Amino acid sequence: MNLLLLGPPGAGKGTQAKRLVAEYGWPQVSTGDMLREARSAGTPLGKEAASYMDAGELVPANVVIGVAKERLMGSDMAGGYVLDGFPRNLEQAEALDEFLTERGESLDLVVNIRVDPDVIVKRILGRRACSGPECGGDFNIYFNPPASEEVCDDCGGELVQRSDDNEETIRNRLEVYRRETEPLIEHYRPSGKVVDIDGAAEPDEVYAAIEAEIEKRRG
Ligand code: AMP
Repeated sequence: MNLLLLGPPGAGKGTQAKRLVAEYGWPQVSTGDMLREARSAGTPLGKEAASYMDAGELVPANVVIGVAKERLMGSDMAGGYVLDGFPRNLEQAEALDEFLTERGESLDLVVNIRVDPDVIVKRILGRRACSGPECGGDFNIYFNPPASEEVCDDCGGELVQRSDDNEETIRNRLEVYRRETEPLIEHYRPSGKVVDIDGAAEPDEVYAAIEAEIEKRRG
Protein backbone atom coordinates (compact mmCIF):
# COMPACT_ATOMS: atom_id res chain seq x y z
CA MET A 1 0.00 0.00 0.00
CA ASN A 2 1.28 3.47 -0.91
CA LEU A 3 0.62 5.96 1.86
CA LEU A 4 1.16 9.68 2.14
CA LEU A 5 1.38 11.36 5.55
CA LEU A 6 0.41 15.02 5.43
CA GLY A 7 0.45 17.45 8.33
CA PRO A 8 2.40 20.37 9.75
CA PRO A 9 5.94 19.99 11.09
CA GLY A 10 5.71 18.37 14.51
CA ALA A 11 2.40 16.63 13.74
CA GLY A 12 4.05 13.28 14.37
CA LYS A 13 4.51 12.14 10.76
CA GLY A 14 8.00 10.77 11.42
CA THR A 15 6.91 8.94 14.58
CA GLN A 16 3.91 7.38 12.84
CA ALA A 17 5.94 6.53 9.72
CA LYS A 18 8.47 4.62 11.84
CA ARG A 19 5.69 2.60 13.45
CA LEU A 20 4.23 1.81 10.06
CA VAL A 21 7.65 0.66 8.87
CA ALA A 22 7.96 -1.60 11.92
CA GLU A 23 4.43 -3.00 11.57
CA TYR A 24 4.01 -3.38 7.82
CA GLY A 25 7.59 -3.26 6.49
CA TRP A 26 6.78 -0.46 4.04
CA PRO A 27 9.86 1.77 3.75
CA GLN A 28 9.62 5.36 4.96
CA VAL A 29 10.44 7.91 2.28
CA SER A 30 11.40 11.06 4.18
CA THR A 31 12.99 13.78 2.07
CA GLY A 32 13.86 15.59 5.31
CA ASP A 33 15.88 12.56 6.53
CA MET A 34 17.52 12.21 3.12
CA LEU A 35 18.51 15.89 3.10
CA ARG A 36 19.86 15.67 6.67
CA GLU A 37 21.94 12.63 5.70
CA ALA A 38 23.28 14.51 2.66
CA ARG A 39 24.20 17.41 4.95
CA SER A 40 26.05 15.20 7.44
CA ALA A 41 27.89 13.53 4.56
CA GLY A 42 28.81 16.95 3.16
CA THR A 43 27.60 16.13 -0.37
CA PRO A 44 26.84 18.90 -2.91
CA LEU A 45 23.12 18.22 -2.37
CA GLY A 46 23.53 18.61 1.39
CA LYS A 47 25.44 21.85 0.96
CA GLU A 48 22.79 23.26 -1.35
CA ALA A 49 19.96 22.28 1.00
CA ALA A 50 21.53 23.53 4.24
CA SER A 51 20.65 27.23 4.10
CA TYR A 52 17.03 26.53 3.11
CA MET A 53 16.63 24.01 5.92
CA ASP A 54 18.10 26.31 8.56
CA ALA A 55 15.73 29.08 7.47
CA GLY A 56 12.73 26.72 7.48
CA GLU A 57 12.23 27.29 3.75
CA LEU A 58 11.54 24.63 1.15
CA VAL A 59 14.55 23.29 -0.69
CA PRO A 60 14.03 24.00 -4.43
CA ALA A 61 11.64 21.54 -6.09
CA ASN A 62 14.05 20.51 -8.88
CA VAL A 63 16.44 19.20 -6.22
CA VAL A 64 13.90 17.45 -4.02
CA ILE A 65 11.85 15.89 -6.79
CA GLY A 66 14.96 14.20 -8.22
CA VAL A 67 15.93 12.82 -4.83
CA ALA A 68 12.44 11.51 -4.09
CA LYS A 69 11.96 9.88 -7.50
CA GLU A 70 15.29 8.13 -7.28
CA ARG A 71 14.32 6.72 -3.89
CA LEU A 72 10.89 5.65 -5.14
CA MET A 73 12.52 3.66 -7.93
CA GLY A 74 14.32 1.48 -5.38
CA SER A 75 13.59 -2.26 -5.56
CA ASP A 76 12.40 -2.23 -1.93
CA MET A 77 9.42 -0.02 -2.84
CA ALA A 78 7.48 -2.73 -4.68
CA GLY A 79 5.30 -3.72 -1.70
CA GLY A 80 4.36 -0.14 -0.81
CA TYR A 81 5.87 2.80 1.03
CA VAL A 82 5.14 5.64 3.43
CA LEU A 83 5.77 9.16 2.08
CA ASP A 84 6.70 11.54 4.89
CA GLY A 85 7.46 15.17 4.03
CA PHE A 86 7.13 14.75 0.27
CA PRO A 87 5.34 16.22 -1.63
CA ARG A 88 5.43 19.60 0.11
CA ASN A 89 3.82 21.87 -2.49
CA LEU A 90 1.66 21.64 -5.61
CA GLU A 91 4.63 21.51 -7.98
CA GLN A 92 6.00 18.48 -6.14
CA ALA A 93 2.54 16.88 -5.93
CA GLU A 94 2.03 17.23 -9.67
CA ALA A 95 5.48 15.77 -10.35
CA LEU A 96 4.61 12.84 -8.08
CA ASP A 97 1.21 12.34 -9.76
CA GLU A 98 2.92 12.21 -13.14
CA PHE A 99 5.63 9.84 -11.90
CA LEU A 100 3.04 7.46 -10.41
CA THR A 101 0.76 7.57 -13.47
CA GLU A 102 3.69 6.73 -15.77
CA ARG A 103 4.41 3.69 -13.61
CA GLY A 104 0.76 2.63 -13.37
CA GLU A 105 0.77 3.30 -9.63
CA SER A 106 -1.21 5.55 -7.32
CA LEU A 107 -1.48 6.62 -3.70
CA ASP A 108 -3.88 4.39 -1.76
CA LEU A 109 -4.29 6.53 1.33
CA VAL A 110 -3.54 10.14 2.27
CA VAL A 111 -3.48 10.65 6.03
CA ASN A 112 -3.98 14.26 7.05
CA ILE A 113 -2.72 14.63 10.63
CA ARG A 114 -4.20 17.77 12.17
CA VAL A 115 -2.64 19.57 15.15
CA ASP A 116 -3.02 23.02 16.66
CA PRO A 117 0.03 25.28 15.98
CA ASP A 118 0.62 26.09 19.70
CA VAL A 119 0.87 22.43 20.58
CA ILE A 120 3.29 21.98 17.70
CA VAL A 121 5.78 24.59 18.85
CA LYS A 122 6.10 22.95 22.28
CA ARG A 123 6.36 19.51 20.72
CA ILE A 124 9.09 20.54 18.31
CA LEU A 125 11.11 22.39 20.94
CA GLY A 126 11.06 19.20 23.04
CA ARG A 127 12.26 16.87 20.28
CA ARG A 128 15.55 15.01 20.80
CA ALA A 129 17.00 12.42 18.42
CA CYS A 130 19.71 9.88 19.11
CA SER A 131 22.89 10.61 17.16
CA GLY A 132 24.10 7.01 17.56
CA PRO A 133 24.62 5.19 14.26
CA GLU A 134 21.69 2.91 13.35
CA CYS A 135 19.71 3.74 16.53
CA GLY A 136 16.97 6.07 15.34
CA GLY A 137 15.86 6.70 18.95
CA ASP A 138 13.32 9.53 19.19
CA PHE A 139 12.41 11.29 22.43
CA ASN A 140 10.61 14.37 23.61
CA ILE A 141 11.64 16.05 26.86
CA TYR A 142 8.00 17.09 27.48
CA PHE A 143 5.98 14.21 26.09
CA ASN A 144 8.26 11.15 25.96
CA PRO A 145 11.15 12.06 28.27
CA PRO A 146 14.40 10.09 28.27
CA ALA A 147 15.95 9.39 31.70
CA SER A 148 18.55 12.06 30.91
CA GLU A 149 18.05 14.91 28.43
CA GLU A 150 21.45 14.20 26.86
CA VAL A 151 21.62 10.41 26.70
CA CYS A 152 19.64 7.90 24.63
CA ASP A 153 17.80 5.33 26.80
CA ASP A 154 18.09 2.76 24.02
CA CYS A 155 21.80 2.83 23.13
CA GLY A 156 23.54 5.39 25.36
CA GLY A 157 24.25 7.64 22.34
CA GLU A 158 24.15 11.42 22.57
CA LEU A 159 20.71 13.02 22.19
CA VAL A 160 20.69 16.04 19.89
CA GLN A 161 18.26 18.69 18.76
CA ARG A 162 17.80 19.28 15.01
CA SER A 163 19.39 22.57 13.94
CA ASP A 164 16.04 23.72 12.50
CA ASP A 165 14.15 22.98 15.75
CA ASN A 166 14.47 26.50 17.18
CA GLU A 167 11.49 28.79 17.75
CA GLU A 168 12.18 31.22 14.91
CA THR A 169 12.65 28.50 12.29
CA ILE A 170 9.62 26.61 13.60
CA ARG A 171 7.36 29.66 13.14
CA ASN A 172 8.59 29.99 9.57
CA ARG A 173 8.18 26.27 8.88
CA LEU A 174 4.59 26.52 10.10
CA GLU A 175 3.96 29.49 7.83
CA VAL A 176 5.54 27.69 4.87
CA TYR A 177 3.34 24.69 5.69
CA ARG A 178 0.19 26.82 5.75
CA ARG A 179 1.05 28.54 2.48
CA GLU A 180 2.62 25.74 0.45
CA THR A 181 1.69 22.35 1.84
CA GLU A 182 -1.81 22.71 3.29
CA PRO A 183 -3.34 23.23 -0.17
CA LEU A 184 -2.32 19.64 -0.98
CA ILE A 185 -5.16 18.39 1.23
CA GLU A 186 -7.65 19.86 -1.25
CA HIS A 187 -5.48 18.66 -4.18
CA TYR A 188 -5.94 15.08 -2.99
CA ARG A 189 -9.45 15.39 -1.48
CA PRO A 190 -11.33 14.71 -4.76
CA SER A 191 -9.54 11.34 -5.07
CA GLY A 192 -11.50 10.17 -2.02
CA LYS A 193 -8.24 8.89 -0.47
CA VAL A 194 -7.90 11.58 2.23
CA VAL A 195 -8.67 10.80 5.87
CA ASP A 196 -8.39 13.41 8.62
CA ILE A 197 -6.84 12.23 11.89
CA ASP A 198 -6.62 14.12 15.19
CA GLY A 199 -2.87 14.46 15.78
CA ALA A 200 -3.29 16.01 19.23
CA ALA A 201 -4.10 12.58 20.67
CA GLU A 202 -1.48 10.26 22.19
CA PRO A 203 0.84 8.65 19.59
CA ASP A 204 -0.72 5.20 20.27
CA GLU A 205 -4.21 6.55 19.57
CA VAL A 206 -3.07 8.33 16.41
CA TYR A 207 -1.42 5.12 15.27
CA ALA A 208 -4.56 3.08 16.00
CA ALA A 209 -6.64 5.51 13.91
CA ILE A 210 -4.23 5.25 10.97
CA GLU A 211 -4.07 1.48 11.27
CA ALA A 212 -7.88 1.28 11.21
CA GLU A 213 -7.94 3.23 7.93
CA ILE A 214 -5.30 0.98 6.43
CA GLU A 215 -7.11 -2.18 7.45
CA LYS A 216 -10.41 -0.88 6.02
CA ARG A 217 -8.70 -0.50 2.66
CA ARG A 218 -6.92 -3.82 2.77
CA GLY A 219 -10.28 -5.52 3.34
P1 AMP B 1 11.29 17.60 7.66
O1 AMP B 1 12.27 16.67 8.29
O2 AMP B 1 10.34 16.88 6.75
O3 AMP B 1 10.61 18.49 8.64
O4 AMP B 1 12.15 18.57 6.70
C1 AMP B 1 13.14 19.44 7.21
C2 AMP B 1 13.49 20.49 6.17
O5 AMP B 1 14.00 19.86 4.99
C3 AMP B 1 12.31 21.33 5.68
O6 AMP B 1 12.05 22.44 6.53
C4 AMP B 1 12.82 21.78 4.31
O7 AMP B 1 13.79 22.81 4.41
C5 AMP B 1 13.54 20.52 3.83
N1 AMP B 1 12.62 19.60 3.10
C6 AMP B 1 12.24 18.35 3.47
N2 AMP B 1 11.40 17.80 2.56
C7 AMP B 1 11.24 18.74 1.61
C8 AMP B 1 10.48 18.80 0.40
N3 AMP B 1 9.70 17.77 0.01
N4 AMP B 1 10.56 19.93 -0.34
C9 AMP B 1 11.33 20.97 0.02
N5 AMP B 1 12.06 21.00 1.15
C10 AMP B 1 12.03 19.89 1.93
